[in-house]
Amino acid sequence: MSTSQSSNTSLHHTLRTIFGFESFRPNQAEIVANILAKRDVFGVMPTGGGKSLCYQLPALLMEGTAVVISPLISLMKDQVDAAQENGISAEFLNSSLGTREMSEVFRKLRSGTVKLLYIAPERFAMSQFMELLQEMSISLFAIDEAHCISEWGHDFRPDYLALSSIPKQFPEVPVAAFTATATEKVQQDIIRKIGLRSPFTVRASFNRPNLFYQVAAKSDVHQQILDFLKDHKDESGIVYRTTRDAVESTADFLSSQGIKALPYHAGLPSEEREKNQEAFNRDEVSVIVATIAFGMGIDKSNVRFVVHADLPRHIEGYYQETGRAGRDGEPAHCLLYFGRGDIPKITYFINQMSDDAERTIAQEKLNQTIRFASYNACRRKQLLSFFGETYPLDNCRTCDICTGSVEKIDISTDSQIVMSAMARTNERFGITHIMDVVMGANTQRVRDLGHSSIKTFGAGKDKDKRHWQFIIGELLAQEFIRQDGDRYPVLKMTARGSDALRGKEPVFGIKREEPKASGRRRKISEGAAFDEQLFEKLRAVRKRLADEHHVPPYVIFSDKTLHEMCRHYPMSPADMRQVHGVGDVKLEKYGAVFLGELRAYRENEGRSNK
Ligand code: ADP
Ligand code: MG
Ligand code: ZN
Repeated sequence: MSTSQSSNTSLHHTLRTIFGFESFRPNQAEIVANILAKRDVFGVMPTGGGKSLCYQLPALLMEGTAVVISPLISLMKDQVDAAQENGISAEFLNSSLGTREMSEVFRKLRSGTVKLLYIAPERFAMSQFMELLQEMSISLFAIDEAHCISEWGHDFRPDYLALSSIPKQFPEVPVAAFTATATEKVQQDIIRKIGLRSPFTVRASFNRPNLFYQVAAKSDVHQQILDFLKDHKDESGIVYRTTRDAVESTADFLSSQGIKALPYHAGLPSEEREKNQEAFNRDEVSVIVATIAFGMGIDKSNVRFVVHADLPRHIEGYYQETGRAGRDGEPAHCLLYFGRGDIPKITYFINQMSDDAERTIAQEKLNQTIRFASYNACRRKQLLSFFGETYPLDNCRTCDICTGSVEKIDISTDSQIVMSAMARTNERFGITHIMDVVMGANTQRVRDLGHSSIKTFGAGKDKDKRHWQFIIGELLAQEFIRQDGDRYPVLKMTARGSDALRGKEPVFGIKREEPKASGRRRKISEGAAFDEQLFEKLRAVRKRLADEHHVPPYVIFSDKTLHEMCRHYPMSPADMRQVHGVGDVKLEKYGAVFLGELRAYRENEGRSNK
């Protein structure tokens, strides 16, 4: 009893003094306790959930060196930098090191002073390294991005298969594996492939409360992005696009409008890709425009928005990409521009797939994404239900649906007009033509086909185009009708639609006002107001220090840490130590510089107030 209490106290003590955090995030404490008790662990936590701490903290409290296996070289360096900034003795070994640096790390490892060693999986195939491991005292193995071991996952890395030798060769050492990939199949596969020994398993909630989800109708997407960025001046963010051409054109457009933006896609030479990623990581440019090739290699915690300018192919990908926003726990915005015009492009690719089963799955995944974007239900609730979770509240307060004013209206009559126009033209036409028929448009096509003589022609001419788009959108989302065909999709009735057309089932739609831009912003930042002028100053200090120390700015202090300073104005080292993310080592290193800036700001303010 008393031992567990005292170890509990020492856990919290380390959390506060080394990491500068007040409390554990959900599941962290249990995971740490199990590793300390030398039990294997399998942890599924969303991006930004705080997986690193789960192995870094026990590494500090246990005898010997913790070996962390991580798939990406670029990430390794940042993680080692971040650990060293907190005063933790951390090193990495990978192909980017020269012979001299390599033997220096080997020397440190033999001396037993290293607490955290990051390595790439291929090192397990090197006999010299394995011999070294056998000589060392190892506290634990942590396998990050563990889904890379599964062929069922989307990032399979054959090198990861070598990790199955760990439990066999080091039977006494606990192994902790982590992933943000949620599917059950991949999870079981990971446990089996590594050979985890009845691991303590946790699955954290995938809810990310600080992310605001919004879906907007896509029209002139470049202009729309530009307008959005006006509200997010100087903030870091990612704009995802589907194709390389689109990436280039959007990056060029934004640059031409005076926004610091760089492109990232697999077609660029690798040096350029790395350079652009680094510039984004170091806050030298605020926006990176990228294909989905971008993301796994960054741990940047101050990404304030993620924009999807094109429709994603599946929810898993969309969720992982949006998950890169707001890792520091501060509010961040996820915006998807949804246009039905994107659907045929994706369907076209899906139809190229030769495997029937794969094609069906891809189509179903696309349909899920379309439903997510077009259905008027809480985005958070929809996303979480996709991961098998039930979101308990009626209103999440942080999505466009929950913050917009919504009103449920009976759209049965208008729905019947649309479906009747479809039926009377034998369900052989797409959205545009059906709208023309309903609105009584005198187009060439209507004249050629003689559609002006059908009974519903012009039945909806007293209402505008937007209204009919809304009705058709609702019918599609609720599956009264569906789109059939890829290049020129036509509207077809479902069984449910036939019932509604015959008046057997009413149709309801949710009419909502677009949330006002200013109102939305106020809501997002509610309770989180900070002195923005001061933030600019502290951010400049952070950037200067980061450049001096050759690390990304967020490694010095996160946005959350700076925001707190701009809320509470710490004036003494003791005040400063209370701020989130300020541990002993960082207080010692950077406390005085930031306190100096804060005091100068206060004094200036005092003068200008007189
Ligand atoms: P993951 O690897 O799960 O995506 P990270 O380990 O990179 O997430 O952590 C995400 C962010 O959360 C980091 O900025 C980290 O410093 C912060 N963090 C982790 N644990 C805590 C905690 N207990 N309290 C506050 N912030 C935390
Ligand atoms: Mg991580
Ligand atoms: Zn909601």
